[in-house]
Amino acid sequence: MKAVVIEDNEKIAYKEVPAPEPGPGEVRVKVAVCGICGSDIPRVFDHAAHSYPVILGHEFSGTVDRTGIGVEGIEPGMRVTAAPLVPCHECPDCKRGDYSLCGHYNFIGSRRQGAMAEYVVVPARNIVVLPNEVSFEQAATIEPATVSLHALRLAKYGQGRRMAVLGCGIIGLYAIQWANLLGAESVTAIGRGETGLQAAEAAGADAVFSTEKISEAELLQTLNSRGYDCVFECSGSGQTMALALQAVAKKGTVCYVGTPKKELTFPVRLWENINRKECWLTGSWMSYSAPFPGEEWRMAVEYMASGRLKLVPGIVHGIYPMERAAEVFETARGGGGRYLLCCEP
Ligand SMILES: [Zn+2]
Ligand SMILES: [Zn+2]
Repeated sequence: MKAVVIEDNEKIAYKEVPAPEPGPGEVRVKVAVCGICGSDIPRVFDHAAHSYPVILGHEFSGTVDRTGIGVEGIEPGMRVTAAPLVPCHECPDCKRGDYSLCGHYNFIGSRRQGAMAEYVVVPARNIVVLPNEVSFEQAATIEPATVSLHALRLAKYGQGRRMAVLGCGIIGLYAIQWANLLGAESVTAIGRGETGLQAAEAAGADAVFSTEKISEAELLQTLNSRGYDCVFECSGSGQTMALALQAVAKKGTVCYVGTPKKELTFPVRLWENINRKECWLTGSWMSYSAPFPGEEWRMAVEYMASGRLKLVPGIVHGIYPMERAAEVFETARGGGGRYLLCCEP
C-alpha cells in the first residue's frame, strides 16, 4: 500500500509499504480521509516522534475492509472512524473510566502506525460506526470535536452560562458550537487571525475579539466588564493562558485545553486572581469516558448526524491527496487550521 512515512526528523516520504493485517480483535480500515493534527507538526519537524519510521494520522475516517478473529458486530463495508487512544483497560485510571490518564497506553498514529496510508489497523473496541449523514471529511474531525466536549464536561458545563473561548482553531470552534448546543447564555471568542474569527462567528460566537486588533488593556476592560462563568483556553499561548485568569468571573471556571509550547510566567498579581475570585481551575486531556471510548464520541456522532454540530467554513483549511503530504505538512507548520489528506485523489 502507499503510505506517508516519517523516516526521520523532517524526512517525509510517500512510498510503498506492506499493508497491515488485522490480528485477533482488530479491524482493518481502508482510509478515506485523515487530518493533520497540531500535535503531528512537532512529530515531523521537532524530533517529537515516538520512533522512526512512523506513519502518523490519528484523526481519520474510512470503510472497514477486513476483520480479525473474534471481532463481532463490525462488518466489511461499514463506514467508520476510530478513537486513537488504546488504553490498557486494566489500570486504576482505566477502571475509573479516566482512559485519557492511562499510563500504559498505545496511540494510533504515534506509538503504533496511523492512518496517513491506504489502510490502518485498529482494535475493534476503538471503532466508532458512522451514520450515512456524516461525511468522511467531517468524520475526520470527530476526534477534535470530542476533545472540546470533554473539556466542557470537565468544567461541569451547565446551561445559561457566559462562556469565553480563547483560541479559534478547531478545538475552539467546536467548543463554541458545543457551548451553544448545551445552552450557553452567550459565547465570546478571542483569537488572532481574521479567518479564525470569521469561523468563530459562523460557529455561533455572539462576540469576537482579535488580540491583533485591540490593545491588551482594551481587551481586558471589555472582558472584565462581561465576566465569564466559563473560560476555555484552547490555544496554549502564554498570552491567552494569562488572559484566562483575568477574564474569568468570581466563582467561575477556567479550563486549560491548549498545550503550552513555551515556558510560562505568571506574575503574582495575575496568579492572585485564583485566590481573590475563588475560581476553579482544571486541565483537560484528550476525550474519553466510560464506557470506552465514551459519551463524547457518542454525542459527537449523534450531533453531527443530526446537523447540529457543523463543519463550519474555516475548520478545515484544505483537502489534498495524500501524495502531497510533504508539501501540506510544510504549510500546516505555519499553524492555523486543519488540513485533510485523502486517499482517493
Ligand atoms: Zn490530534
Ligand atoms: Zn490503563
